[in-house]
Amino acid sequence: MPAARPSTPARYSLPAPPVWNCCSIQLLPNLGWTPLSSVRGDVRIDARTLQEALASADPVPETDHPGYTIGDATPLAAVRPKTIDGVATALTAATRLGAAVVPWGGGTRMGLGNPPSRYDLALDMRGLSSVVEHRPEDLVVTVEAGCTMQALQDVLRDSGQYLPLDPPLPAQATVGGLLATGISGPLSTAVGTPRDQVIGMRAVLADGSIVKNGGIVVKNVTGYAMDRLYIGAMGTLAVIAEATFKVTPLPRAEATVVATFSSMNAATTVCNVVTAQGLPLMAAEVLNGAAWSQVGQSDDGNGDYTLLLRVAGRPSAVARSIDACVAACRETGVANVESLNDDASVSLWKKVTDLGWESGPPDLALRLLGTPAHSAELVALAAQESDAAVSVSPTRGVVKAYWNSDALPPDVHAYIAGLREAVTALNGTVVVESRSRLDGVDAWGPTPDSFAVMRQLKEQYDPHGILNPGRYVGGL
Ligand SMILES: Cc1cc2nc3c(=O)[nH]c(=O)nc-3n(C[C@H](O)[C@H](O)[C@H](O)COP(=O)(O)OP(=O)(O)OC[C@H]3O[C@@H](n4cnc5c(N)ncnc54)[C@H](O)[C@@H]3O)c2cc1C
Repeated sequence: MPAARPSTPARYSLPAPPVWNCCSIQLLPNLGWTPLSSVRGDVRIDARTLQEALASADPVPETDHPGYTIGDATPLAAVRPKTIDGVATALTAATRLGAAVVPWGGGTRMGLGNPPSRYDLALDMRGLSSVVEHRPEDLVVTVEAGCTMQALQDVLRDSGQYLPLDPPLPAQATVGGLLATGISGPLSTAVGTPRDQVIGMRAVLADGSIVKNGGIVVKNVTGYAMDRLYIGAMGTLAVIAEATFKVTPLPRAEATVVATFSSMNAATTVCNVVTAQGLPLMAAEVLNGAAWSQVGQSDDGNGDYTLLLRVAGRPSAVARSIDACVAACRETGVANVESLNDDASVSLWKKVTDLGWESGPPDLALRLLGTPAHSAELVALAAQESDAAVSVSPTRGVVKAYWNSDALPPDVHAYIAGLREAVTALNGTVVVESRSRLDGVDAWGPTPDSFAVMRQLKEQYDPHGILNPGRYVGGL
């Protein structure tokens, strides 16, 4: 069994993966091995060798391998371990053979990032799907990485609690996948990003070592918080096996103000006024006309912007906040304003979170990351020359834009290049989140100044480059 490692990473040496020369590659069929293989330079990984090495790691039948296809690539083998030791066994074998591993959660965001440059083994984490420990009195929960967000929220709800992370497709999206992508949504206005809510983690490194950081105690100050590195690393540094979160009591009441403005500037002005008043905003989002009609609301085609302000808490406090929000809207020339309570509010935000992904990945999805001060400019840039459905969080400076095939800009490659140039001038970035039609476009764009550090971390954590190779920024 792999031993637990100290939490601070140190340089470690691994057995070199086997390298077969050209002669042995030619001999492979004569040895009776299956012809399916992955070739990396002069390293050839044989499907049967890989499958045999993984025999004790809960292999998935070959007939199910197409379910793990990414783009045109289907893995040579797939495993679905039921324990963290099983994950370690699989990674140890993969490192020994030099096999490229794709950790697989719910599979809802396999289109995010660049396609892996090599893909031999799908490591399906859904065999680890338990809620390990929930301490309602301490507001903490420990959960295995393959547990879906919906299953976790169901357990927490029984104790009147929830984890304030509300990803699209929660019945499929897993805790591990959510942390690996590190993307947050509207609720982060109030509670921060996934990184802010994790207080402990167990992960498995590429060589099969199991590492543990933090724990179930909220005040956890010893050592470096190395687990923070794995959040948002897209499974390129380690495989997340288990996480401990702070959780939150469910609010007793909630409501959303829905206000329509003729300009994006007016909508963001109200948002700034409300924030400056210190009202307890849980989320704030502005949708353009196309996005508003996509979440099932009527759009009169006037190019209006709909501001959504969500508040939660005690019923009397919610009522006071709603009154203050409505007053701020009226002072800023609102065209229409109404409020939705409790279930109606929850159901609207579910649609806003799923926007663009309701029926699978959109033909094109872009995320523009900037500053709150540039929100209106980012929206104008995203919507130029196209009929994108655009949603922006003015408090975070994050803009999401979606296109279906009939609304795509005429030259998508040129459009993205121009957009990247304009957004970079605002110190922002553009991430291509769904790229079904975009061969040859890098998902992440130009590498950031911190890239040298990122590459060093990758070399230290995954020296043989077996974890999701090529998927992340700069081909890491
Ligand atoms: C409010 C909110 C809004 C969001 N909006 C968007 C959005 O608009 N667009 C978007 O793309 N995402 C968005 N996300 C993120 C998205 O919800 C997550 O990417 C999703 O939860 C992934 O779950 P999954 O299990 O399907 O991951 P998968 O699709 O299975 O995997 C996603 C990536 O993570 C890696 N991975 C999976 N499991 C592990 C693991 N255990 N250890 C290490 N790596 C792993 C995979 O290799 C892959 O690279 C949002 C999240 C939140 C909370």
